[in-house]
Amino acid sequence: MLPDKLKEECGVFGVFGHPEAARLVYLGLYALQHRGQEAAGICSSDGQTLYVERGTGYVADVFGEPRLDRLRGEAAIGHVRYSTAGDSSLNNAQPILISGGQGRLALCHNGNLTGVTELRSSLAAAGAVFHSTSDSELILHLISRSKETELERAVVDALQGVSGAYSLLIQKADCMIAVRDPLGFRPLCLGRLNHKSQAWVVASETCALDLINAEYIRDIEPGEMILLDRHGLRSIQFAPGDAPAFCSFEHIYFSRPDSRVFGRSVMLSRQALGRVLAKEAPADADVVVPIPDSGVPAGAGYAAASGLPIEFGLIRNHYVGRTFIEPKQSIRNFGVKVKLNPVRELLQNRRVVLVDDSIVRGTTSRKIVQMVRAAGAREVHMRISSPPIISPCYYGIDTPTRAELIAANHSVDEVRRYIDADSLAYLSHEGLMCALEDNNRKYCTSCFSGKYPSKIN
Ligand code: SF4
Repeated sequence: MLPDKLKEECGVFGVFGHPEAARLVYLGLYALQHRGQEAAGICSSDGQTLYVERGTGYVADVFGEPRLDRLRGEAAIGHVRYSTAGDSSLNNAQPILISGGQGRLALCHNGNLTGVTELRSSLAAAGAVFHSTSDSELILHLISRSKETELERAVVDALQGVSGAYSLLIQKADCMIAVRDPLGFRPLCLGRLNHKSQAWVVASETCALDLINAEYIRDIEPGEMILLDRHGLRSIQFAPGDAPAFCSFEHIYFSRPDSRVFGRSVMLSRQALGRVLAKEAPADADVVVPIPDSGVPAGAGYAAASGLPIEFGLIRNHYVGRTFIEPKQSIRNFGVKVKLNPVRELLQNRRVVLVDDSIVRGTTSRKIVQMVRAAGAREVHMRISSPPIISPCYYGIDTPTRAELIAANHSVDEVRRYIDADSLAYLSHEGLMCALEDNNRKYCTSCFSGKYPSKIN
């Protein structure tokens, strides 16, 4: 991931009814690694006991044969985490496991609860002992403290006490529950294995279903809870979900382009964003150069609509670890150069349109523009396939403070000067709606507007 991008918080994946449930979850988490790289964990159940294994780092670093062997049973849930609320220590890695009124329960959460300060204080005052600083644990405490005896009723009861974004997987010894918040901020889909087990699969994105050859059945709806147990699948609409706020940034940047999210192909959405951008903000230029990887589909759309050729004038090194040792004598723009390198022959003496999905602080965009100029480009025109980010996200995406968001405090021309481009244009808000074919206003655009669809404090 390039520095200076918004970061997705988490991905979840669950399998119910397969003899190799934990191994399938491990594979599913592999496919969801882009949604979080700081920690990974799996909890399995053999019908009697829950087994949990968690660690910090990539899925491949956390899980080897011995750990997977310990995860017995035919049901498992898993999680990849990038921390936003709470810190990135192992204590905050998921699945979170607690014992309470419902027995032992494990939970995986994608999203972020809002207005939790008061809730945390009132739970602590009532004697709750927290094992982590993550807001996800609050849900488990609420479930455990519910007066309802049946798990599904206790979950519904608990969810009445929280707001914000949550796509959840909950594992009990004999059943699994999947839940999506009533606004449906984060994606969650249901699939089924064609294998004779006919196991059920729940995933943040469809690319994870593809990896294990599971068939996509449908999205879990906003406000819907799905219960999987030995009787099969049951769906409960626990809250109205008819006014959703799907995260538009899933289509702009977060989700993998080979996924279908909120009923749409992410790849086709990104190409459409680029096409609309080209119509709104044409450039007098020779060539379109997308900033890899996330700018590539929008760049292709921009090129197709503008009639300009597309060239891959920036090459990404995919094999960069999370940290690298910098040289003692500074190299100009070192941090970006480790990940991107220009192809001089494609850029020299040309008027270049750089296409990217977003600008957060502007620091990386500035380095890329300087790099492209240093490689011989005559002019550099930056085009961004989303509107300016002017406000933080409270729904599970790591955003800097408003003070650090360059577009929150500067005009488009001031940003252009800062990033050193000859011209700069963002996609308009209407352009975003048009590209996502959002006639019914079902997408969240709060980070572009500063208007939030739910209470945030
Ligand atoms: S505020 Fe932005 S990033 Fe957060 S859910 Fe809404 S669209 Fe997505």
